[in-house]
Amino acid sequence: MFSSKALFRMALLMVVLYSCGTSQPARRNVLSPGNPATGATQPADNRSGKHPNQTVFKKPEQVTRRQQKEEERQKINTTVERRDEPATDTRDTAAANSAYKSPSYYKYITDSIQRTSAKASYYKSTESLFKQMAVVPNPQNPAVNSQWYTTVNFDARKPNFIILHHTGQTSAEQTLFTFSITRTGVSSHFVVGRDGVVYQMLNEYMRAWHAGKSRWGAITDMNSCSLGIEIDNDGDEPFAEPQVQALIKLLSYLKNKFGIPQANFIGHADIAPGRKDDPCKYFPWKRLAEAGFGYWYDSTNLQQPPADFNALLALRVIGYDVSNQAAAIKSFKLHFVQTDTTPVLSDYDKKILYNVYLNYM
Ligand SMILES: [Zn+2]
Repeated sequence: MFSSKALFRMALLMVVLYSCGTSQPARRNVLSPGNPATGATQPADNRSGKHPNQTVFKKPEQVTRRQQKEEERQKINTTVERRDEPATDTRDTAAANSAYKSPSYYKYITDSIQRTSAKASYYKSTESLFKQMAVVPNPQNPAVNSQWYTTVNFDARKPNFIILHHTGQTSAEQTLFTFSITRTGVSSHFVVGRDGVVYQMLNEYMRAWHAGKSRWGAITDMNSCSLGIEIDNDGDEPFAEPQVQALIKLLSYLKNKFGIPQANFIGHADIAPGRKDDPCKYFPWKRLAEAGFGYWYDSTNLQQPPADFNALLALRVIGYDVSNQAAAIKSFKLHFVQTDTTPVLSDYDKKILYNVYLNYM
């Protein structure tokens, strides 16, 4: 017979295997069980947990020490900042001929890093995290002065916010590269390309590093309660139509899967006033709100705020950190006014604020 501790560990391992069963080949749309381009179906639903042979935990073991050394060498050699070392690997003529920092250049080095180090690192980290979670309560903890009784009713914590970003980079491939190397220290769960291709880089139950120092309401650790979606856009251009459509499809999937409230689809600038300004003024917040992601206001029927309307308090109720009032106003205007982001509220801006605020009452 198995001990209860062993059973507990087995159950956790099953959760790990299930979670990591979503590992997908590059460019596969996460929303589709089949190939979205060809319509070809995959061998059953890999989220069902019915196909244990799809687990990927054996892969890191296939990476030998020699391979790991090689990956380290390649990581150094493919550092993009080293302009004196463009992709000149003669094993791949196309990559060798691709322009420095072009999408094909980034794709080549990213594919290489993914093969040699990123995936192994991912498995190692998830394994380590689940080991930490499987640790039973410490009997020496002076704050808990009774023996350990275990509950049998629990599951994993779920994301409750979606934070939207623009990448500020020139291609989705560049962003995939940025998130594949350790020295950048940043990541997101999803990257949405201009062509509508949605890449998933991290299981939704894991914590990505996309929000940084941030605050919304009283929450100061947004990374722990949110999913990060990076949208390929340089910050000074409209968002491509296939990209917006793919984003809406992705948001719909996530909203349904995790029961995320409409109010909790917000931007990086919203949670980090004065520090971040993404997504940029071209972001289609109104269209997203009409689809049920975030709030907007009826511009044709704006209600007049009462005489004693307190704009600062309204910003705070919505969720903005108002410790820097000008920064909070700029963030609010980047999201809800867009045409003007000066740090002052005109009468019209106050009307907008009041009407947005009514959604939060
Ligand atoms: Zn951002």
